[in-house]
Amino acid sequence: MMIKMPEDKYQLKAAFTRAAVYAVSAVSVMSLDRADALLTLGLTMGIAAYSAWDIQKKHGKRFEAMPELDEDHHIVQAAKRFSARAGVKAPSVRVQMAGEEKPIIDFIGTTNQYMIVNASEFMNHNNLSDEEKDGTIAHEIAHIEHGDVTHGQIDNAAYIALCISTIGMAAEQMMQGHIAQALLSSSILPLVALASRYVDRQTEYSADQRGFELTDDKEALISGFRHFNYVSGEGELKDMVHGHPIATKLLNAYLAIHEIFSEHPMGQKRIAALEEYSKVYKPS
Ligand SMILES: [Zn+2]
Repeated sequence: MMIKMPEDKYQLKAAFTRAAVYAVSAVSVMSLDRADALLTLGLTMGIAAYSAWDIQKKHGKRFEAMPELDEDHHIVQAAKRFSARAGVKAPSVRVQMAGEEKPIIDFIGTTNQYMIVNASEFMNHNNLSDEEKDGTIAHEIAHIEHGDVTHGQIDNAAYIALCISTIGMAAEQMMQGHIAQALLSSSILPLVALASRYVDRQTEYSADQRGFELTDDKEALISGFRHFNYVSGEGELKDMVHGHPIATKLLNAYLAIHEIFSEHPMGQKRIAALEEYSKVYKPS
């Protein structure tokens, strides 16, 4: 595997947090006796391999069955343009007809990449503008360029190893009657889960920043966020409490807590981060 230097401050933060999570996981496994450590590693590899196979089988069929967008469609052209700029293979763009899911990019393994666009969002001409589509597509291409899916799979394996070793350890402590110790050692799990959410949010900021570079158009991304913010309800809630100082404070507190558990940063913060970056960004 090639080790690349992080390209921006978000990737740097993600890399440090990942390193800490991997270290905690390694220490946890190494603190087991040899037989248990081997069992833990075996189980981890088994679960990781099964989930890779499962994704390949289930989603492979699902994506293959979706209609592929025409070559000359704006979205396909944009995906090709940004992929070429990023130096990655362009994904095959498929249309998902079900209404409720958000537009996503999805992958099978790390070689077959599909960009799944949601028909109700992307095909209805009264919804996203072409620029907003470009911003969203460039963000997704940045995820491909950054290898975020592969990183996510490695993170999952580290978390699985940590779960197995910690639960094993806590169970043993419980059986020996050390209840407080068992609670203390298993308290690492929610902390690490939150740390991995933090990593997810950094990769989102990073893909936003790279999406801006790929499009040379921060407004395309920002306006897309506003659109999706309203889709997800954050914007509507803000409108509802507008002009009510206490309600606004409560809503902001709620959103801040909600964000700690979320894979995506708040729309407002993503917009602010792009505004900040646009002050130092120089088009190449
Ligand atoms: Zn993203």
